[in-house]
Amino acid sequence: MANSKYEYVKKFEVDDKLPPHNWIVLRIDGCHFHRFSADHMFEKPNDENALNLMNICAVTMLEHFPDIVFAYGVSDEYSFILKETTEFYQRRASKILSLGVSYFTSVYVMKWKDFFPHKELREPPSFDGRVICYPRAKIVRDYLAWRQVDCHINNQYNTCFWMLVKSGKTEREAQESLKGTLAKDKNELLFQQFSVNYDKLPAMFRKGSCVYVDKVEETVKSDDSGNPVKRLRKKVTAGKKEEKEEASRDPKLSVSGDDAQPP
Ligand code: ATP
Ligand code: ATP
Ligand code: MG
Ligand code: MG
Ligand code: MG
Ligand code: MG
Repeated sequence: MANSKYEYVKKFEVDDKLPPHNWIVLRIDGCHFHRFSADHMFEKPNDENALNLMNICAVTMLEHFPDIVFAYGVSDEYSFILKETTEFYQRRASKILSLGVSYFTSVYVMKWKDFFPHKELREPPSFDGRVICYPRAKIVRDYLAWRQVDCHINNQYNTCFWMLVKSGKTEREAQESLKGTLAKDKNELLFQQFSVNYDKLPAMFRKGSCVYVDKVEETVKSDDSGNPVKRLRKKVTAGKKEEKEEASRDPKLSVSGDDAQPP
């Protein structure tokens, strides 16, 4: 429709290019997953299949969008970090957001049956999303630490809550008995009442998941001389955050020192 009398409508579109030299974080989060997880009878507090489904969606995101350098996920959310120099869709926020969220959602639906072969998807899942710009790698690391602290606090609370409920308390009673408790009280409660050592629970539940790029050695058929040749290939993998940040696509994101600890 170039040069038609209708062309002027384009002028109403706003420029939503994100500023240059900033890391772009795309965070997506399941809409009403409290209800969605109940409707689909997710195991509480952590349904491993549901988490692994989120993880495979994230792996597929890194394979599909090469400018994503690292991803961190917990519960029904995932954060994707795009490299600071990305020119993906000229850094237009609406494009990055809409493509990221819709692709993730489609993969979630497509892969559902691989993780829940005996559960029908009863309603279309949806995810909300936002994009945030961070001007320095340090802030991106603090962002990831913030999400991981949130994971820890929620998981510790939910582990206690569901232990109490499964032991016969009503949800209200469980809530009441956890009111005002500190982290150490919760650990104590788990140990005394349920003989659960919180630190021994699966790391994916306590710390979340991450997706990064690994270099793997592979043997290819042959060089000119007919001998097998080894070479390094990039492979997107999911794993524990604290071990694998080093392997993210961008060395500036690697962390030395301890994992983030909750306050
Ligand atoms: P909103 O639409 O505002 O995000 P929400 O119901 O999705 O609301 P969240 O704060 O995002 O609320 O929390 C997600 C909820 O989904 C958790 O509280 C938990 O009940 C449930 N959930 C998500 N993933 C899992 C899982 N793997 N196992 C068990 N429950 C899960
Ligand atoms: P972009 O990712 O930039 O949007 P695109 O390939 O989707 O690129 P569009 O300008 O959106 O390009 O055009 C959509 C194209 O999809 C059309 O040119 C046409 O080839 C194809 N297409 C979409 N819907 C139909 C349809 N119902 N029947 C046949 N072809 C279709
Ligand atoms: Mg939300
Ligand atoms: Mg949610
Ligand atoms: Mg959430
Ligand atoms: Mg199109």
